Amino acid sequence: MYKLKVLEPVSKRLIIATLLLLTSLQVWAAQVSGFRVWADPAKTRAVLDLDHKTSYKLFTLQNPHRVVVDLKGSSIETPLELDKEHAGVITGVRYGQPDKDTLRVVFDLSESAELKSFLLDPTAQYSHRLVIDLFAKSSRQKSSMTKHVADISKPNRDVLIAVDAGHGGEDPGAIGKKKTREKDVVLQIARELKKAIDAEPGMQAVLTRKGDYYVPLRERYEIARKARADLFVSIHADAFSKRSVRGSSVFVLSARGASSEFARLLADSENASDLVGGVTLSDKDDMLASVLLDLSQSATREASNKVAGDILGALKRSVKTHKNHVGRANFMMLKSPDVPSVLVETAFISNPGEEKRLTEKEFQQRMARAITHGVRNYFYSSPPPGTWIAANRADSRHIVARGDTLGTIANRYHISLARLRTVNKIRGDVIHVGRELIIPTS
Ligand SMILES: [Zn+2]
Repeated sequence: MYKLKVLEPVSKRLIIATLLLLTSLQVWAAQVSGFRVWADPAKTRAVLDLDHKTSYKLFTLQNPHRVVVDLKGSSIETPLELDKEHAGVITGVRYGQPDKDTLRVVFDLSESAELKSFLLDPTAQYSHRLVIDLFAKSSRQKSSMTKHVADISKPNRDVLIAVDAGHGGEDPGAIGKKKTREKDVVLQIARELKKAIDAEPGMQAVLTRKGDYYVPLRERYEIARKARADLFVSIHADAFSKRSVRGSSVFVLSARGASSEFARLLADSENASDLVGGVTLSDKDDMLASVLLDLSQSATREASNKVAGDILGALKRSVKTHKNHVGRANFMMLKSPDVPSVLVETAFISNPGEEKRLTEKEFQQRMARAITHGVRNYFYSSPPPGTWIAANRADSRHIVARGDTLGTIANRYHISLARLRTVNKIRGDVIHVGRELIIPTS
């Protein structure tokens, strides 16, 4: 579509004449209306917004290193500005017209890079896009995970928790009324969560994304698997058409589709991430994932349910929760066959009060602490063999959640009710929510 605002001062008749002329001259004339860059540990991604699909040519030049993009019959609508903070190997951008049919965009690079490029179809947020990925030599070997693989042979190792901040880069996630972007607040919460987990003895966290860039959904759980994580926690913020809806929720993967229409809609919008972020889902992979899931993984599913229940219990103690039970939905990033996986919708970004809270450090830290308590309760009740927690469980604690009774707590830690009472000097049956109980090992 031609943006009429550019032509506003001109008379209507002239606009129509101009449009006819443009259309007859060049059917595929495309305008470049936007430009963004994102740098992740492995590559720099440049995105050009186009109002039409167009043909393009891409090549590199040396001395100095440059990437040249020639777009057929195109023009620039607004000047291209480089966001230096996210620019990775790109140090500058220029453009011009080597001939009247070609728009040439030149990226200056700090070093040589390998290229990958593709066109993306329009989504709700974006028009057609040309995506150019630059893989620089210095970052080619770099993986976000190399430093953080759980050494399963090391005695008394830490449990490793992969903390996944949803969305990122090209994919902003849900957007609040005040323009708060899900991708920003969930990254802040994920960083707080990593801090809180790392402060716990016997626990370590690793982030699946460390900045404002997009990681495909399947890659997120692959990062957790490669790191041999004991748990995968994906952090999101919810959105709903009714602004009054609020509260946090915890989800696990449903075996067969979603458990409710609400959960299905939510899964659809979260899974659409890959379409926005730049990777189309392959049905074949999806089928493989579901086969793998069915083959083995009832133990993983059981563990996911348990840890989700523990996190929900901890959230109930410190924030408003949306529902009283763990939700089930067909989330792509929870499909790891062997790493227990949960997704936390921290709050509704569509609710004005919660949108504000999501941006506040106090709420972000409260959320991080609550999730950490839930995770800690889970690992102390089911420690993986060979971990520090398994060896040091004598000191373990359980924080009483709403719905807990002495009986259920004794049960889940496999100790007798009498022992639990003696150690904690409890006479009656009343235990207060939030109280810390000592859980003896044997
Ligand atoms: Zn999300």
